[in-house]
Amino acid sequence: MSVDSMAPHLTPAAFVGHGNPMNALELNRYTAAWRAFGEAVSRPRAILVVSAHWYINATAVTAMERPRTIHDFYGFPKQLFDVQYPAPGLPDLHDEVSEIVKPTWVGRDVDSWGIDHGTWSVLVHAFPDASIPVVQLSINADKPLDYHLELGAKLAPLRERDVLVLASGNVVHNLRGMNWSLEDDGFDWAQRFNEDAKQRMLTDPTEFATMDAHADYRRAAPTPDHFIPALYLAGLAGAAGTEEMSVLVDGYAYGSLSMTAYTLGLDCGQTAETAGAPSAPPGLPPDNSNI
Ligand code: ZN
Repeated sequence: MSVDSMAPHLTPAAFVGHGNPMNALELNRYTAAWRAFGEAVSRPRAILVVSAHWYINATAVTAMERPRTIHDFYGFPKQLFDVQYPAPGLPDLHDEVSEIVKPTWVGRDVDSWGIDHGTWSVLVHAFPDASIPVVQLSINADKPLDYHLELGAKLAPLRERDVLVLASGNVVHNLRGMNWSLEDDGFDWAQRFNEDAKQRMLTDPTEFATMDAHADYRRAAPTPDHFIPALYLAGLAGAAGTEEMSVLVDGYAYGSLSMTAYTLGLDCGQTAETAGAPSAPPGLPPDNSNI
């Protein structure tokens, strides 16, 4: 047996720019790419999601048998509040995560969170039958960017254990700067930051946490909650060494969001440019929508 054939199979991992939660209901080039990813992955044992929308003062993992679907946004149509993603949980995954990330402490959440829209707006496309257990890992808002990159790297053994790590945010996410009429476009500063971040992610992911020194970082990530999930994929990429990072789909929405998604260990090919972003704005100013 050659050394190569003894290498462990590594489950792919991904970062997805989730954007407008209306993506959950739409078919566009982003959601088509998320579907293509889900179809290309061998069914994992569980999905561990790092979502921008579970941004709290602790590192915690959900541990419910039946996580609830959380509708954590404002001003959108009832149809979006009616979406359910009834995937089971996998309470034992908390113990596995706790063990592999030691000495980092990981809380066990049995009653506060569930499956938020950063997670389900993507999973309804990637894994529409909702049969694979879904567990969320919170983003600890008290920690610096390095902490998240390093925690991502520590999660690498999960890929040998048939767990798909999915990070969900937006590399560029400035709600105050959004313009609903720019459905499929990005401002100059958004493009500058996103392109430099892409270069870093594809060629030097272990340095991704230093993107906060970029001249456009404050505008791209006025709060870091949507940027941080990308650090988890960068950390996994660094831990994997030579494994290929690929762009799954690329683009901008409403001027100040980037929709770029990346895959690690699985190249689905970039989806052809067809229809762009969904065009159904909520009835509130963007910075009150919590998207
Ligand atoms: Zn969001």
